[in-house]
Amino acid sequence: MSNLIKNITEFALYLVQGYVSEGDVVVDATCGNGYDTLRLAQLSPAKLYAFDIQQEAVDATRKRLREAGFAEKLKDGAIEVICDSHEHLTDHVKTFIQAAVFNLGYLPGGDHNVFTTPATSIPAIEQGLRLLKPNGLMSLCVYYGGDSGFEEKDALMEYFRTIDSKQYTVLITEFANRPNNPPIPVFILKRI
Ligand code: SAM
Repeated sequence: MSNLIKNITEFALYLVQGYVSEGDVVVDATCGNGYDTLRLAQLSPAKLYAFDIQQEAVDATRKRLREAGFAEKLKDGAIEVICDSHEHLTDHVKTFIQAAVFNLGYLPGGDHNVFTTPATSIPAIEQGLRLLKPNGLMSLCVYYGGDSGFEEKDALMEYFRTIDSKQYTVLITEFANRPNNPPIPVFILKRI
């Protein structure tokens, strides 16, 4: 519990795990080094899709999963790690989903010139929201400042406020007293 607020992705996953049961379908829209994907895999979903546009990230995620004992699930397709932009989510995901995780920004330890942008992340979020089951959860960590700038954060904050309130509850949270552009955790719940 003690690490939850220090590490925002831990906090997000802590909430996500409360929404996911064995047999659900879940999506990691930005798998990067595979930490979130592994945590989702450990929830025993029936199907886990993970996306990244960088082959390096896809390879790192597959390696992490294999080393953690999920080689069989990679082989039999219960876990798919897909090298494609998340804007093509519905080309790959054809069923409703219980949860989706977007950890935006650039690959830690990778090329800081490759980062998520609103031109693709907003269509991906829209597609994810359309697939989200009632009482399903989408979690997003919005990183900004530094090499990735402010464009995505500004566009997303505007977009979140336009999401249909009859269908979704959108929670934008913040670190009120943390300096240096702290990430913004956002949670979108599909209403029942
Ligand atoms: N969740 C990851 C983990 O556990 O290590 C960290 C994700 S990292 C902050 C963001 C990732 O988004 C990078 O690996 C980057 O390559 C990826 N990315 C950037 N644009 C993307 C896009 N259009 N579609 C999918 N992934 C993208």
